[in-house]
Amino acid sequence: MKQLPANYSGRILKGVFSYTLKKRTLSVIQASAAFDTYNFPLMPYITAWNQEDNTIWYEFVGQQFLDLLETNATDISKVFRDSIQDQRIFHYTDLSQSEVEEEIITRQQISRKRHNLRRNVQMNKQIEAVYQIILPSDRTIWLKDRGRIENFPNDTITLTYGCLTDVTKEMEQKELLEHIGYFDDLTGLPKRNIMRKLFEVRTGERQRGYINEFSILMIDIDHFKSINDTHGHQMGDFVLKELASLMSSLKRKEEDIGRYGGEEFYGISRGNNQSGVEFAERMRRNIENHTFSHNGTDLHITISTGVASTEEFDQCGMDSLLALADKRLYQAKHEGRNKVIGSL
Ligand code: GH3
Ligand code: MG
Ligand code: MG
Repeated sequence: MKQLPANYSGRILKGVFSYTLKKRTLSVIQASAAFDTYNFPLMPYITAWNQEDNTIWYEFVGQQFLDLLETNATDISKVFRDSIQDQRIFHYTDLSQSEVEEEIITRQQISRKRHNLRRNVQMNKQIEAVYQIILPSDRTIWLKDRGRIENFPNDTITLTYGCLTDVTKEMEQKELLEHIGYFDDLTGLPKRNIMRKLFEVRTGERQRGYINEFSILMIDIDHFKSINDTHGHQMGDFVLKELASLMSSLKRKEEDIGRYGGEEFYGISRGNNQSGVEFAERMRRNIENHTFSHNGTDLHITISTGVASTEEFDQCGMDSLLALADKRLYQAKHEGRNKVIGSL
């Protein structure tokens, strides 16, 4: 190649490749470089993937992108890779591309998954991903990546022509919405809708044989209304908050806890009925002995819990498990409160 583009640090134009590939590469580099000089809010790049030795490199990186990461064309691969905190890939789950699935890939998974991602890109002929990156200035931003790919089978090279654009505002909004949807404002615990998700996950684990059984706990504070009536709503709110953090500190990693609504909480425990009852008893005992102190007032509360587990059913749906746990909760109330009922 006679006329190498200014600051060229790619490999194709200087390497042993077909004329077709070189010509095509040069023309997209020239077009991208021209585009980049106008400072559109889009940052173009071109990557090449050599399938033979599985190497990936940049054929072109726009100056805007280099400036953003405060680096140069030689170091950009490493700098970009090191700055990624979170990566989300979008897969089209049907051919008409009307259904999109979002896959969140953690930093630790990125290199392990790279091979599969490449294959996926190869099949779909396009890339669509969002990266969360930390800039040298310590600012966190989200970049959306969209690219088209073109294959050169004779050279075993795949080129990707892509553009990155800043979608920080959109992603922050999305995260906020997701957070509002899943976590309870007052206690910070997962809301009721998470219970169904957890139930589905546990059911899947059980079907695949990772766990044998699991149990659901329905927990209700005893005589909570009288706390509001005697000490005011603020005290009531304080008790709910402190109770939530106490329960969170008492749960083990195989146990989950959430706010069902009002002064009612749920628990899910991987294990049989006995381990569910053990979790409930651990909480009952500790709560009974805990002093809730707020604005000079000391209070004690108790809870009642009903436990039901999958081993009690042949075919077990969430509603039947919940109904049984609820029935036992009311039995516990009936029998004098501060009690766990979970007998088979
Ligand atoms: P029981 O032992 O039978 O469960 O009696 P209880 O008084 O706990 O039950 P009840 O259902 O009669 O009252 C629940 C009370 O919880 C009524 C409601 O005002 C209060 N409550 C529900 N959500 C909140 C909240 O977010 N903050 C406060 N402060 N109170 C709440
Ligand atoms: Mg209640
Ligand atoms: Mg109650």
